[in-house]
Amino acid sequence: MGVESEYMSLEEVSNMLGVTYQLIYRLVRSGELPAVRLGKLYRVSRNDLDGYLKRSKSASATGGACSVCGTFYKSRKSLEQTCTEDGCEEPICFDCWNRLGVRKCSKHSGK
Ligand SMILES: [Zn+2]
Ligand SMILES: [Zn+2]
Repeated sequence: MGVESEYMSLEEVSNMLGVTYQLIYRLVRSGELPAVRLGKLYRVSRNDLDGYLKRSKSASATGGACSVCGTFYKSRKSLEQTCTEDGCEEPICFDCWNRLGVRKCSKHSGK
């Protein structure tokens, strides 16, 4: 049973992700990347690494809430449209934009 392969050294993790050893070490020390200590060395389990990668991915591709209906979307793709008022960047979801024909955020809809 490949217990060995379930755990990776910090060096292996950094090689795999293409980042520096120092960065991985810092993530482990700060607790962001869970690791176990075997003797003098840290080991990261594949499960914990996968979990960390999923978390960091979803954090970088953050969604947001529609400024009109308030619905929260996980993906920015659903909020590609923005308020047409000059300088206003409030997101408008595809639903409000396409189905309801909304072009301005609730603040600028002029009511
Ligand atoms: Zn909406
Ligand atoms: Zn606006």
